[in-house]
Order: sequence, then C-alpha cells, then structure tokens
Amino acid sequence: MRREGIALVISAPSGTGKTTLIHRLRGEFPSFGYSVSCTTRQPRRGEVDGRDYTFLSREEFERRRALDCFAEWAEVHGNLYGTPLAPVERMLREGLDVIFDIDVQGARQIKLSLSAAVFVFVLPPDMEKLEQRLRLRGLDDEADIECRLARARVEMAQAGWYDALVVNDRLDAAYDALRAVYLAGTLAPARNPRLVESIVKGLPWRS
Ligand code: ADP
Ligand code: 5GP
Repeated sequence: MRREGIALVISAPSGTGKTTLIHRLRGEFPSFGYSVSCTTRQPRRGEVDGRDYTFLSREEFERRRALDCFAEWAEVHGNLYGTPLAPVERMLREGLDVIFDIDVQGARQIKLSLSAAVFVFVLPPDMEKLEQRLRLRGLDDEADIECRLARARVEMAQAGWYDALVVNDRLDAAYDALRAVYLAGTLAPARNPRLVESIVKGLPWRS
C-alpha cells in the first residue's frame, strides 16, 4: 500500500527565490514530479525548452487553450502561462508528488480542481531585498523589474488563503520550512487512506 501523491503548489513574487527553493527540494527528493508549464515568454539565458518551460507562440498557446489542454492558465507580466493537464493527471494517478510553480491566479484555479493540494506562498523578507534579488539575477530589463515589483504587492495581498507562508530570508531556514510543510503534507490521513485499516488488519503498508 502506497500513499497518494501530493500536489505541492508554490507561488511567490518573481525574484523571491522560488526557483532556487524548488531546485533544492527536487534535489533532495528526486522522485518529485514537476509540472512543466507552457509559456509564451521568451526563454531566459540557461533555460531549456521542455525542462524549465515548454515555450510556445501565442497562437499555439491559444490553440491548446481552446482544446482545454490546460488545468489552469493565466496572463502574467504580459505573457501567457498554463499548466498542461494530461501529465499532471498521469503523475498524480501514479502516486507521484508533483510541484507546481504557478502564480496566484493559477493557484486559485488549481484549488477548485485539486482541493487536496498543499498551497505554499513564499515571501521576500522585505521589498528592498526583493528588488536586489531581481537585479542580481540579471535576467530582466529595467521595465520588467518595475513591472514585477508592482505586481509583487498585488500578489502578496492574496497570500492569506494559502496553507503556509514561508519567508525566504536565510535560504537554509526557508528551505527547512518548505521541506517541513511538504513532509507534514505526506502524513495527512487523506493521503494515507488505507493506512489505519492496513495496520489493524495486519496488511503490509509503507508510508
Ligand atoms: P524566483 O524563481 O522566485 O523568481 P530565483 O530563485 O530565480 O527567484 O531567485 C532570484 C535571485 O535571488 C537569484 O539570484 C537567487 O540566487 C537569489 N536568492 C534566492 N534565495 C535567496 C536568499 N535566501 N538570499 C539571497 N539571495 C537569494
Ligand atoms: P517567470 O516568467 O519569472 O518564470 O514566471 C513568472 C510568473 O509566472 C511566476 O509567478 C510563476 O510562478 C508564474 N507561472 C509559471 N508557470 C505558470 C503556470 O503554468 N501557470 C500560472 N498560472 N502561472 C505560472
């Protein structure tokens, strides 16, 4: 008997350190499935098509959207982003835990379709550090940075409905908190539906 997979939904204002934290979580737990989003934005330096995102033209994105290929989609910073439905359904069916790196609009849509998902919002320690990190990352031009900072405030105003808030000040402490939320999620009775029965009946089990 194996527990059910967790959908771990992680949102954060751009530049907070979400990609860094997710990378670390996937490094420690290599069996994690990752939902590779589709986007119409241009690839950044170092990004690989099919690994970081599936990069699509706007026309192709709209075609797939019309065919209901996305579990959710949103327009962020002028670009379209969407979570392909079929791979997510397959991974969860196979009992894999799946990470979703999506914005607050998308997370709300996922909440409607996957209410048992675990929702984590990662916050920057303050707005100055967020700006510094965006600049240090060196991947966005000045107009993009202004746009991301303005949007950060709007997104953070919606953090209240998430299951957990993780402040990414010191990376190690933020990672420990994210890891704890994930591990606690794996222990929920809803993800271990036959555990008690198996123990009572002396059947084999594994958490
Ligand atoms: P996001 O995915 O949220 O846009 P990134 O993971 O790309 O953010 O991180 C943005 C920048 O901030 C990167 O240069 C990263 O190395 C740096 N960073 C991430 N976490 C921390 C931290 N706790 N302290 C200092 N810098 C950090
Ligand atoms: P970036 O362009 O910096 O990679 O991502 C910009 C924002 O889009 C981030 O907040 C990220 O979480 C969000 N995002 C990435 N993929 C998806 C997706 O599939 N759906 C939604 N709704 N947001 C996404």
